Amino acid sequence: MGREYSDLQNSHPCFGGHKNNAGRIHLPVSPGCNIACKFCDRTINDVEERPGVTSKILKPEESVEILKKALEICPDIKVAGIAGPGDTLATDNAIKTFSIIKKEFPQLIKCMSTNGLLLNERAEEIIALGLDSLTVTVNAIDPEIEAQLNDYIIYHGKKIEGVEGAKILIHNQLEGIKKVAAAGITIKVNSVLVPEINGDHIEEIAKTVKAAGAKMYNVIPLIPQHKLKDLKAPACADIEKAIWKASKHIEVFRHCQRCRADAVGVPGVSEFGDQIYQRRLRVR
Ligand code: SF4
Ligand code: SF4
Repeated sequence: MGREYSDLQNSHPCFGGHKNNAGRIHLPVSPGCNIACKFCDRTINDVEERPGVTSKILKPEESVEILKKALEICPDIKVAGIAGPGDTLATDNAIKTFSIIKKEFPQLIKCMSTNGLLLNERAEEIIALGLDSLTVTVNAIDPEIEAQLNDYIIYHGKKIEGVEGAKILIHNQLEGIKKVAAAGITIKVNSVLVPEINGDHIEEIAKTVKAAGAKMYNVIPLIPQHKLKDLKAPACADIEKAIWKASKHIEVFRHCQRCRADAVGVPGVSEFGDQIYQRRLRVR
């Protein structure tokens, strides 16, 4: 069983509303993805501040040196997270990395993000790892809506498009959340808000994931890019409406910084990724 939710609120920046001054490091060990979100633009660069971006891909064993350096420079780091740039369950890299962390840095909170396609079948491995917190991105629980956000999934070596793929994805997300939550691991669900597509669906998602066992919900405003580049980014009123509807059912996290896959530091306070990952110095 992972750490209690109340413990995470005191020691994990994302569960404590960024009020506990705790830091996190993201280890970019997961390169590829097994689904095709229409808004996804994964890239390697040193400058953009958004999910899906990293300056490099690490091998699991390289995280030991990176973590040592990060803890030296920023002792406030309490959380080792893996959030991409691709999906953490599409390869074994994230699970290998967490096994290393469990042994070498047992004091660190282990936090993982996934799209959940393989969560149902890999739930037992995740539970055995002693993960403390898991974020699952669920953008719809209606396959017709999900198919407007995601072109296809690659599932057991097969490409499955549209609504058929969406049905499998949603089923595996919800069943996976149930298993992992039942084992006592704290679950946060992220939804990318695309007002034209899932704006009126957020309440239903929040209600459903809460019933499956999620503790917290995070509305992430769309960054219009890739195939959804011509849509508008949600306005403040869209975001507030989505948060208000979701908060009728589940605790809502309001401080998402849409971090890079190699972010390091206390969110909103300090950023050490340039030093840790030796990014080129940039003009901010
Ligand atoms: Fe975990 Fe996501 Fe917060 Fe990173 S941003 S520490 S993966 S909840
Ligand atoms: Fe991109 Fe994440 Fe969607 Fe994969 S799950 S396509 S990495 S946004």
